[in-house]
Amino acid sequence: MTLSVDQSEIQFDTLADRITGAVVLSGDPNWDTARQPWNLANDQRPNAVVLPADADDISAVVLFAKNNGLRVVPQGTGHLASPLGDLTGSILLNTSSIKWIDIDPDDQVVRVGAGVVWGEVTSALAGTGLTALAGSSSDVGVVGYTLGGGYSWLSREYGLAASSVTAIDVVTADGELRHLTADSNSELFWALRGGGGNSAIVTAIAFEVVPIADIYAGMLMYPLDRAPEVFTAYERWTRDLTDHATTCVRLLRLPPMPELPDFLRGQSFVVVDGAINASDAEADTLLAPLRDLNPSIDTFARIPTDQLGLMHMDPPAPVPAISDGMILDALTPAAIETLMQLAGPDIESALLLVDLRHLGGAVGHRDPRGGAIDHLPGRFLLYTVGIAPDAVTAGIVGREVRMLIESLTPWANDKDYSNFREATASPKRFYSTGVLARLRAVKRAYDPANVIRTSHELI
Ligand SMILES: Cc1cc2nc3c(=O)[nH]c(=O)nc-3n(C[C@H](O)[C@H](O)[C@H](O)COP(=O)(O)OP(=O)(O)OC[C@H]3O[C@@H](n4cnc5c(N)ncnc54)[C@H](O)[C@@H]3O)c2cc1C
Repeated sequence: MTLSVDQSEIQFDTLADRITGAVVLSGDPNWDTARQPWNLANDQRPNAVVLPADADDISAVVLFAKNNGLRVVPQGTGHLASPLGDLTGSILLNTSSIKWIDIDPDDQVVRVGAGVVWGEVTSALAGTGLTALAGSSSDVGVVGYTLGGGYSWLSREYGLAASSVTAIDVVTADGELRHLTADSNSELFWALRGGGGNSAIVTAIAFEVVPIADIYAGMLMYPLDRAPEVFTAYERWTRDLTDHATTCVRLLRLPPMPELPDFLRGQSFVVVDGAINASDAEADTLLAPLRDLNPSIDTFARIPTDQLGLMHMDPPAPVPAISDGMILDALTPAAIETLMQLAGPDIESALLLVDLRHLGGAVGHRDPRGGAIDHLPGRFLLYTVGIAPDAVTAGIVGREVRMLIESLTPWANDKDYSNFREATASPKRFYSTGVLARLRAVKRAYDPANVIRTSHELI
């Protein structure tokens, strides 16, 4: 089991002998499965893939990589694989096998292994009366999402998921296992919560959950040709909206997928969806201005919070996607017009969706418990994606995504949200000068040889 890298022979069998998990190399029968990320548009070709069984395995991998001049790329699911680029010279550390969930209902804290995805947490919490600050998609990883910030359907009331973290277990680049809290290894604890996994590899994470058993949630769907009117009404509606409502307006062009029901398959809509943590009567009153626009489909109803991960209709399985995001400070009539010219009802667009998620409320204020990213600025979080099954489509989708982001720049905040930034971006786009300097100091202290490589690096 040897592999040539820069003329040197790397003895991966010595690593395989040392760990409980698996080392997978090119030529092994499971190579293609092991190296495949959730976002299938990325053809990941690292020098090896390791599926660690536990923190000790991760420690062995880090030391092995360091001794052999390789970098380690931690990956839970590969939702944010696109900014990584070429993985030559790296070990892809696929943490998906580290799956366990501990629920402490008394303290309302959940602790999970690095490979756990949100759907597994929300299912485990079903019936407990508790819910987590999970994102819109059930198969997004808890760790990657939380290290980038974590915007959930409860964010305007409870802030970012990163701020609800109580403890993190990591392996640092010296192979040490460390327990991080606000009082112990506090600088690294601060850096990981919003600064991504740049300075350590997470093996487990603990976070507070909130006592909400059910919630008023759903979608209002209108024909796509009403998009300018609905976007205008949504902007007005959100101006003084309660923090109990976290919602999104979106252009949605559903593919002709057999899994979809007839009334959705191949159809295009403008949609307002989200969750309102209030009584049915209060939620109905809040939604009245949008219902007055006569949506053709209205699914808003009280649902158990463990069902929230299905509401946004995110793809249930890996897809080849090209996407990107930005933060908008304003949604003026000119911004809406620009958006409609690029992805609105009058043009053929290759974009599956353009989401504008409502910011402000608790997510807009600095959270005193928080880390490197303790809030998000701006009014709306934009995320757009197109499916790109082949090179020609990828070219078209890539151009449309870039054009949309560039054209909306006049209304953009000078910061981006790293979890939604799928193109390579300067760290200055995510962090203020002071926060970036502090993050870099943490990186120098814990990973001076730059062994750990993440989606968005600090250099
Ligand atoms: C369909 C879809 C829906 C989404 N919905 C939301 C949403 O509602 N809200 C939101 O905030 N974001 C959302 N996102 C963005 C998502 O949060 C990011 O893509 C996030 O980084 C995914 O984390 P992951 O672990 O699944 O992905 P991965 O690609 O596995 O991880 C992303 C990055 O996290 C770091 N990382 C992962 N595991 C570790 C580890 N063990 N140690 C150290 N670093 C690690 C690495 O830098 C890695 O490159 C969505 C993305 C998609 C594609």
